[in-house]
Amino acid sequence: MMNIDLEIFSPVHPISNPLFDEHDVKVFLKRDDLIHPIISGNKWRKLKYVLKTAQAQRKNHLVTFGGAYSNHLLATAAAAAKFGFKATGIVRGENVDNNTLFLCKLHGMELLFTDRESYRDKHALFSKYLGNNEQAFFIDEGGASAEGARGCSELVDELTEPYDHIFCACGTGTTAAGIINGLTKNQLKSRFNAVPVLKNGEFMREEINRFLTVPSDYDLHTDYHFGGYGKADDELTAFVKQFVAATGILIEPVYTGKMMYALYDLIRQEHFKRGSRILAIHSGGIWGLLGMKDRFKLGG
Ligand SMILES: *Cc1c(COP(=O)(O)O)cnc(C)c1O
Repeated sequence: MMNIDLEIFSPVHPISNPLFDEHDVKVFLKRDDLIHPIISGNKWRKLKYVLKTAQAQRKNHLVTFGGAYSNHLLATAAAAAKFGFKATGIVRGENVDNNTLFLCKLHGMELLFTDRESYRDKHALFSKYLGNNEQAFFIDEGGASAEGARGCSELVDELTEPYDHIFCACGTGTTAAGIINGLTKNQLKSRFNAVPVLKNGEFMREEINRFLTVPSDYDLHTDYHFGGYGKADDELTAFVKQFVAATGILIEPVYTGKMMYALYDLIRQEHFKRGSRILAIHSGGIWGLLGMKDRFKLGG
């Protein structure tokens, strides 16, 4: 049987900016985006034990769900190809074509499009399209699962330096829960900071808490959604542009751009004690940039 694993390359890089010196904080970025070009960032961490479970149950056909720009769909397509699974992606909305779905198809994923109403009941869709397929293995939208959180907790095992704060963008909250569990397991005192990328992010606390191994306290910064999932304004795109141009590190407006914006804004607001060491997680997802080219007013 094929060993389902990737060698993790995710170094911690210091970032500099006059703002950090002014407020006497040190900022570091954990480069989960470098784990794999397509199965990037938290998506590999979330899939690892899900795929191992599928393999243990002798299922060779992954079935999962996402919007037309879903990083999870794409990561699943590439992971399926790499580790010898078939893959079906059930996509919310009418049949469209874009860069993400092109890459999913290139990796051999079969795509089924479904209306927004039916999309709500993922288990019903699974039964409808794959109910007779003994090989089919259900993976929830965004890879949200306890196995996903388990994979993400391993990020903390890799840390060799102490940090006062850890920042991460949240969609389903699985990655956040995993990191918090990892902090608990390693008995680290770092304060976890979750930045929901969706509107009304208070609901994220419930989503995170359902995957926690031990009830834990953390901060939820709900004011950085920029209008909701996938939404961005000129201020956010200008921030992303400036960050990329100043650091040479790609981020995008859907997840990591909002998280980094939140971090910079909180530094400006003197949210952190002087001397704080802050680790931001680069959770990957840079292919999402291609779907947002038109939001950047770069001229030329
Ligand atoms: C999917 C994704 C997230 C959200 O992870 P959750 O575990 O769903 O909270 C964060 N960042 C990037 C780049 C992602 O693609």
